[in-house]
Amino acid sequence: MIKGTTVLLLINAFLLSLGSIGCSTNPSKSSSNDPGEGGPLAIIDAHTHTRFTGEAERTTKISMTLKQYLQEMQDAHVVGAISHTSPTGEGYVDLRSHGVMHCAGLDRKVNVKEVEAGLKSGKYGCIKIYLGYVHQFAYDKNYEPAYQLAEKYDVPVVFHTGDTYSTEGKLKYSDPLTIDEVAVDHPKVRLVIAHCGNPWIESAAEVAYKNPNVYLDGSALLIGDMAKLPKEDVDTYLIRPLAWIFGYLEDPSKLMFGSDWPLNNIASYAEAFKRAIPKEHWKAVFHDNAVRVFKLKPVR
Ligand SMILES: [Zn+2]
Repeated sequence: MIKGTTVLLLINAFLLSLGSIGCSTNPSKSSSNDPGEGGPLAIIDAHTHTRFTGEAERTTKISMTLKQYLQEMQDAHVVGAISHTSPTGEGYVDLRSHGVMHCAGLDRKVNVKEVEAGLKSGKYGCIKIYLGYVHQFAYDKNYEPAYQLAEKYDVPVVFHTGDTYSTEGKLKYSDPLTIDEVAVDHPKVRLVIAHCGNPWIESAAEVAYKNPNVYLDGSALLIGDMAKLPKEDVDTYLIRPLAWIFGYLEDPSKLMFGSDWPLNNIASYAEAFKRAIPKEHWKAVFHDNAVRVFKLKPVR
């Protein structure tokens, strides 16, 4: 059911990553542009996967093509996005001209040479660690080179947390509480807890609340088409959890919108997501926070 679908997103992401795996800063009071003013809300999707196999995603049936991705960006007024590559890098497509930044996906060991070259060239603008899918804690010494690279190049590190979309995932590794270790030991590195640690949203919210360098993305707490799921399910498993998280944080700069495309239709997930966030904070949550955390330069 619905909660199972949550996991899907993670797993799917991971499968995407395997087959093709499949994500900081300080809030400023103003941004250089004015998304949403005088027009539709300009959105940054802080969590997507862009392995365009041409197939239909197995749960959502969304067509995994560049055409579909760009169409959904346009439909949802997405002006920039983050895409997580697989540890193998398979399926990488340079989408910088569309405002899409890639995170370098890691396996157990960090290929320092490849990741550093990518960060230098602009191929990558962030690093993604697949906790749970990879049976290794965030604070494992194997990931130390990644945190050092993140600090050197001033890029964020995104962690898959929470449910895994695969029975082969091991959940003790994807508990968001483990990110606290990294946050304390690497205070200069911006860390993003993907999926708000779902279903361990309290741990994720506390780690982000307590550590100035930790942020949350609210992608794929549910997957599918929010406009087609029963409203009660969307309220129970997406809206109320997100609203609680946002309130607990007491800081509108901490939470970012993300869809986990192709596990969600971007526009319908964004519309549902808005219901959890007070309107006066939409610009922060749907745009400005991701621009700061990822140092994005939206294309429009
Ligand atoms: Zn994902």
